[in-house]
Amino acid sequence: MRRLAEACERIAGTTKKLEKIAIVADYLKSRAPEEAPVSAVFLGGRPFPAWEETTLQVGGSLLWKVVAELSGKSDQELTAVYRRHGDLGAVAAEVLPERRAGDELSVVEVQNCFHQIATARGPAAKSALVRELLSQASSLEAKYIVKIITGDLRIGLKESLVEEAIAKAYGGTLAEVQRANMLLGDIGDTLRFAAEGKLGQARMRLFHPLGFMLASPAESAEEALSYFENAVVEDKYDGIRAQAHVSDGEVRIFSRTRDEITESFPELPDALAGLPDDVILDGEIVAWSYLAGETGRALPFSALQQRLGRKKVSDEMMRRVPVAYVVFDVLYANGELLIDRPLRARAQLLDGLLAAERKLVEPRSREAQGQLRFEPREATTAKVIRSPLFVAASPENLDRLFEAAQERGNEGLMIKDPESVYTPGRRGKSWLKLKRELATLDVVVTAVEYGHGKRIGVLSDYTFAVLDGERLVNIGKAYSGLTDAEIAEMGKWFLEHTVEDQGFRLIVEPKIVIEVAFNNMMRSDRHESGYALRFPRIVRIRTDKLPEEADTIERVREIYEGQSSN
Ligand code: AMP
Repeated sequence: MRRLAEACERIAGTTKKLEKIAIVADYLKSRAPEEAPVSAVFLGGRPFPAWEETTLQVGGSLLWKVVAELSGKSDQELTAVYRRHGDLGAVAAEVLPERRAGDELSVVEVQNCFHQIATARGPAAKSALVRELLSQASSLEAKYIVKIITGDLRIGLKESLVEEAIAKAYGGTLAEVQRANMLLGDIGDTLRFAAEGKLGQARMRLFHPLGFMLASPAESAEEALSYFENAVVEDKYDGIRAQAHVSDGEVRIFSRTRDEITESFPELPDALAGLPDDVILDGEIVAWSYLAGETGRALPFSALQQRLGRKKVSDEMMRRVPVAYVVFDVLYANGELLIDRPLRARAQLLDGLLAAERKLVEPRSREAQGQLRFEPREATTAKVIRSPLFVAASPENLDRLFEAAQERGNEGLMIKDPESVYTPGRRGKSWLKLKRELATLDVVVTAVEYGHGKRIGVLSDYTFAVLDGERLVNIGKAYSGLTDAEIAEMGKWFLEHTVEDQGFRLIVEPKIVIEVAFNNMMRSDRHESGYALRFPRIVRIRTDKLPEEADTIERVREIYEGQSSN
């Protein structure tokens, strides 16, 4: 662990990408075969490989308490140190006493402790194990143990650079390493394959989620059609992104954060289990009115919201808010990974797969009839629906499709390049999204304040930030547009994840992403970003997004410049 921490210090000490890669490559090569894979996982900022569902469930406040106890510092003293560093790992390095003499701690031992912490139940048991681990570490080791627990090393190293370092250290091209890592979902295993010269033998792990391909925003129909020919167009459904893995009748569904969400949608596995083949599908789960017209239609996101975050879903809830899985892509079928095939070919395969599924449609349920909203003609009860495809050759075509999509209750359009391959985890210009509210930003909550008037004593005012490189810079503050129940629930989370209590204001762990709408944007030095928003309002909590996926300062500049030239 000492060597890893020292390497991290050197990585933090240079801004040059190539130097960082070289340091990682040298370090990994210098490690014993059983240590290098674990080190690669840690360098990616994770306690466990990506595909493992294990989580530590150790929040900032628990760590804070342990560091306070071990150092004997008061809250005030710790807060003063935290202000200087803005990072709990750096605080630990400064205040923790040096290790008592004894054996060195290896990365494998640290990961074993992480496993124990993950399986321990309750904060007291977890605290005891974290305390034990930190007291065996030197202050420099503790710095990086704390950072790994919080899931962010903050040394300007992403997993993509670790991939480059593996290619450099063990041979193999970067593309081969990236592909193996994507298939295995484990940078440590990827390193093992590379070290043994077997990158080509890495195989897909079904039931371990792949990254999701992401879309870039287009500001207008003209722009949306400017990047490629023969655009394929789909409605943009306002639900939650979901990747379904199906094999031998077993079904698992994963969210965009790669968490398993199968339990939240008990009606979907049965519908998917009937597929003729082992598959991985990509689509959107939406609240669905089955009796609207021939094919049914999507209901607003607010309807779906009642179903989210529940472990147990009652029959009553399933009847009240029925859902459908609208599928728009297939990533694996016939024993073959399809992501390198063009969308055109994937779409055709998907048509075939879901046509077979449609034959398994159940008869219309009695309960559903009670929810009649529209004149029913052969209403569908298929819970897995192939998203309809359109083509658009001109901006006028696209505008008409946009209006039709909105009339169907959808958010806007997705415009896709039929020749494009599926790029997991990347946002490119092969998929573009055209939305109604152009001016919304996905931002990260950095601080919360107690409200006034009716919301006195309630954490209802959120300060939020956009990404500037790896840093977060505040851009605004909004009174929550959330419901009282949501505010109360979020308030609880924030209290548990406070890193600094300033009395009326809590600095919180930057983990929660919210979508904010606003009327326009101004230059202002009120916030660190140099911009401020006019009439910001919170549209919703983006539980499906990680803080790294928030909008960037570049996008803020684009919006600002776009509005001033109009
Ligand atoms: P946003 O969440 O605003 O960044 O927009 C991208 C999201 O739109 C994707 O992650 C999907 O969850 C969602 N989406 C809705 N309909 C589609 C579609 N037809 N194709 C791809 N993504 C879609």
